[in-house]
Amino acid sequence: MVTGPRRITILGSTGSIGDSTIDLIERDAAAYDVVALTANSNWAKLAEQARRLKPAIVAVADPGAYADLKAALAGTGVKVVAGAEGVCEAADAASDWVMAAIVGAAGLKPTLTAVARGTVIALANKECLVSAGSVFTDAVTRHKATLLPVDSEHNAIFQVFDFDQKEKVRKVILTASGGPFRTWSTAEMREATPKQAVAHPKWSMGAKISVDSATMMNKGLEVIEAHHLFGLPSEGIDIVVHPQSVIHSMVEYCDGSVLAQLGTPDMRTPIAFALGWPKRLNAPATRLNLADIASLTFEQPDDVRFPALRLARRALQAGGSAPTILNAANEVAVARFLAGEVGFLDIAAIVEHTLDRVAAQSLNSLDDVMAIDGEARRVAKAASKLSAAAE
Ligand code: NAD
Ligand code: MG
Repeated sequence: MVTGPRRITILGSTGSIGDSTIDLIERDAAAYDVVALTANSNWAKLAEQARRLKPAIVAVADPGAYADLKAALAGTGVKVVAGAEGVCEAADAASDWVMAAIVGAAGLKPTLTAVARGTVIALANKECLVSAGSVFTDAVTRHKATLLPVDSEHNAIFQVFDFDQKEKVRKVILTASGGPFRTWSTAEMREATPKQAVAHPKWSMGAKISVDSATMMNKGLEVIEAHHLFGLPSEGIDIVVHPQSVIHSMVEYCDGSVLAQLGTPDMRTPIAFALGWPKRLNAPATRLNLADIASLTFEQPDDVRFPALRLARRALQAGGSAPTILNAANEVAVARFLAGEVGFLDIAAIVEHTLDRVAAQSLNSLDDVMAIDGEARRVAKAASKLSAAAE
């Protein structure tokens, strides 16, 4: 039994999910004891968070930011560490609840370090589950950790999923906003700029997931995420485009009942659910007013204009390391797009190119995941502009 304030770790505290998590914690500060915070390179923001929340340890992944962070926290008694190992050291500090909100496969080792402590993991970082698949879920089982989905769709499903009668679930239905290019033609998307791609119509999020929403790779990653969280095959996971983002996802049962979770699009609601679980907490999200919204609409997803949807299904069906390859190639392609190196349509084309070239194999260990991830990144980085092939 945990008594006293709940000990909290936030991996990726300086990001969008990190901000929302800290917002909730500061609204009821006496209930929490923040133990560890981590960031990639934004030492100034990390130092400012540490001065307010007084963790025992902070870690910055970029070793070049260590001296500045250390100087900024001089005299506070906060332990400062750096590098990828430093982030794992922070993840290893004893705590009761971990927000896993590093973006990308960079979050894999720190999150697995926290999993090995057998603690509660609030999982925002979908890429680590997509990339490591059963290596990740086996570690959760082996170490008796508790995995709570924070991704809004999976959190919605978790809230209405009858785990005692799993066999009565016919399918889950992931809703998708459709992203900023929902109504754009392929020709229009060819010219899309990073600025247009990160301007999500409904959610305020980090750059990488915003681009993933624009390509709809985000929904593809979420299909794979749902497979691992709820034990359903690809055919048991549908996608419906729902531009208002009011229904966050649904579960269909054998009797025809469909259960949904609804709310305004504010990540503080699913984060609060994970923070309070199994109890509910107050959260400050704007209340849903359905009469004001008046109508909810639904569309079939279009995997011709959004080929990432097809590629993610292909990777899930192939199994083994195919999702690792998909994820790594996508991370590289999104970074190249944001850097202005390749066009918007090149993102899916680079992912397809990489899936075609890197041989899929079985995944048995973290070393297997890291080796395949590295190989896929090399191929994706070497790929030239490919969008002509994507027409
Ligand atoms: P973000 O870019 O705003 O923040 C990412 C965090 O990770 C930052 O704290 C950054 O410093 C840290 N980070 C980045 N690279 C790192 C590295 N190499 N090593 C260590 N730390 C590193 O991203 P976000 O929008 O907060 O998303 C975080 C995760 O949550 C992603 O996996 C995303 O898919 C998922 N998610 C986000 C939302 C959302 O609304 N933002 C919704 C659902 C899921
Ligand atoms: Mg989501």
